[in-house]
Amino acid sequence: MIHPQENADLTALNSFAFEARAQYLIDIEQESDIADAVAFTEQKQLPLIVFGGGSNLILDPFLPAVVIRFAREGYRKLSETDADVLVEVEAGHNWHQLVLAMAREGWHGLENLALIPGTVGAAPVQNIGAYGVELKDRFVSLTAFDQESRHFVELSAEQCNFAYRNSIFKSECPGRYIISRVRFRLSKEFVPLLGYGGLRQALDGARPTAEAVLQTVVSVRQSKLPDPAVIGNAGSFFENPIIPDEQFAQLKTRFPDVVAFADRPGYTKLAAGWLIDQAGWKGYRQGAVGVYDKQALVLVNHGGGDAKALMALAAEIQRSVAERYGVNLVPEPRRYPKPSV
Ligand code: FAD
Ligand code: NAP
Repeated sequence: MIHPQENADLTALNSFAFEARAQYLIDIEQESDIADAVAFTEQKQLPLIVFGGGSNLILDPFLPAVVIRFAREGYRKLSETDADVLVEVEAGHNWHQLVLAMAREGWHGLENLALIPGTVGAAPVQNIGAYGVELKDRFVSLTAFDQESRHFVELSAEQCNFAYRNSIFKSECPGRYIISRVRFRLSKEFVPLLGYGGLRQALDGARPTAEAVLQTVVSVRQSKLPDPAVIGNAGSFFENPIIPDEQFAQLKTRFPDVVAFADRPGYTKLAAGWLIDQAGWKGYRQGAVGVYDKQALVLVNHGGGDAKALMALAAEIQRSVAERYGVNLVPEPRRYPKPSV
């Protein structure tokens, strides 16, 4: 049984803390509510938008839409071998709470992904990643309601087509699947993954325990990133551009210190934060919105800002980076409702 709430306030449900309302908001208490919510949406002739924790969204003041959210949390072990466990998690489970719970169980592999805001159901959408680990590295399959076939389907990693901060849920068919459960394979043995300099240095050389890696990720992130509960933000505002090696070679002659990493063969990934910082934007403030002073890749709402002001600032940054480096920055968070131009 669903209970649509009309003209619902979304201000506390988005991490930028932009003032916003939805025509309807529905809490999904159980999987069978999804079909009811879809039917309600059709009856109202409105689009349906799934919200998780609202930490990767840019909201305009009014969403003429039915917004649904998963209220249900929980995880269960489906099977195990001597080496690993298969765990199924409800879409509404908080991601960081899952990372903590898995560490307590002694089921490893999510430690580098600690403190990423949001829900488990949203994690496959952009194949969340941090410190050299991506969701796809631990992912087995998910259950989703397919709005096209009107059935629940099980999708494998291959079908999700995961890529760098991307999947079918973000690019090929945004909005089609409502993810309700996600399954992961986690290891009983802990193997530290310390490829990222920031993490390695903070751990100071010794082979760390799982707990040490998790706590270090938490403290490094707390030292660099704004807490959305204190200052509105959606984490990295732009994706790191991946450019052909020839273009990178030219850039490197002009900017020898450019921060970059080898990507798939023939391509190099640029640290977008470095490009923005070196273009002079770090700490810049334009009215109520600005660029975070400890991490130039994060745009913030100092209070009272809105999507329009934020996107105007983002456009200026994009222009300046394109002029200086010849590189296009693409925003990572999703804007709702989708602008018509
Ligand atoms: P939302 O913002 O609510 O939704 C994001 C998108 O997913 C929307 O398009 C929504 O419609 C869709 N969606 C949500 N739930 C479902 C579902 N059940 N089924 C289908 N579609 C759904 N991201 C990283 O990858 N790595 C990081 O290290 C990282 N750090 C961050 C740090 C901060 C401080 C912040 C604010 C954000 C950070 N992010 C990071 C971005 C964000 O946390 C992730 O993208 C996260 O997965 C979003 O989860 P959410 O539940 O808040 O999703
Ligand atoms: P960082 O460690 O200072 O690194 C800066 C950039 O260089 C990152 O964007 C990272 O790319 C890249 N990088 C660093 N070491 C690398 C290596 N060994 N191999 C390949 N790429 C490397 O970054 P940070 O800002 O403190 O963030 C730490 C991690 O958390 C990063 O993985 C970042 O993506 C993630 N994070 C993501 C968000 C988000 O909203 N998406 C927000 C905050 C933090 P990658 O970004 O590709 O990893």
